[in-house]
Amino acid sequence: MTHVFVSPHPDDIALSCGGLVAALQRRGETVVIVTVFCGAGSSSTLTDYQRDALGFGAIATGATGAETGGQTGVTATGASSADAPSPDAAMAGRRSEDERYARSVGAAITFLNLPDAVFRGYEGEAQLMGMPRPDDPAPIEALARELGRLKPKHVYFPLGVGNHVDHQLARAAGIALLGGPHDEPSGSVAVGPGLLGRLLFYEDFPYAQRVGFERLEQLPGHALATMPHDVSLAPEYCELGDLLDRKVEGIRVYASQIDSQFGSDGAMAEAVRSRASRVGQLGGIDPAERYWRAISS
Ligand SMILES: [Zn+2]
Repeated sequence: MTHVFVSPHPDDIALSCGGLVAALQRRGETVVIVTVFCGAGSSSTLTDYQRDALGFGAIATGATGAETGGQTGVTATGASSADAPSPDAAMAGRRSEDERYARSVGAAITFLNLPDAVFRGYEGEAQLMGMPRPDDPAPIEALARELGRLKPKHVYFPLGVGNHVDHQLARAAGIALLGGPHDEPSGSVAVGPGLLGRLLFYEDFPYAQRVGFERLEQLPGHALATMPHDVSLAPEYCELGDLLDRKVEGIRVYASQIDSQFGSDGAMAEAVRSRASRVGQLGGIDPAERYWRAISS
């Protein structure tokens, strides 16, 4: 049975779904990660802002980069412009972390290589965590193609907690694919049968932790506005037990992201445990991850 996890960026599945992925591996099920926005587009050099936002540290000019995606400011560690990786090299580094994680959990991985939001003109927290621009469509066709090829039994999309534009666009693609074959103005997309009943949304970590996400009502009104009216989301829990340690180990593979996202390895492990405990409490169970299955209501 194939499970496909749609990851806006390299690291989102380890962060948000690492416990479930480890559980599926233990059960011998097939896991495929599809990472969507992991390309650099046509950018030729990294701006300070892009460098900071992608987790490669602010350049030590004395100016701190804009806050990015709720991340804590990155401490410059003697980096200079000369050390700045090219956009392609930076994203290749992020993808290689993703490959190592996939290998460590026995998953296959596919990169769609669409440019990250910071390469599509979004700059600063207000834009990165704001509304997607009208000229920046959700990657519906690219994901429909992948899912058509992989024919998964279950598909996992981000719920978009925290509102990162790339997460919102991935969520929008999931909602669009719920209904099955549909007509886009640009032509019809062959999706096969709709994903209703087989699509689950995951709670984006660490955003869910930062905003104290507990109920769907905390999402902005527009988040689920395009969901068909006869579809509702039902919570499902994955109890973690000893998988919690596996999840922490998995996140550790993304060395470029730990400091910028959490400040330190210890803080990362603490945040993972604390969020899992809270989610477990919400379900009246032990530490867990929570998923929302789209079902007909
Ligand atoms: Zn992400």
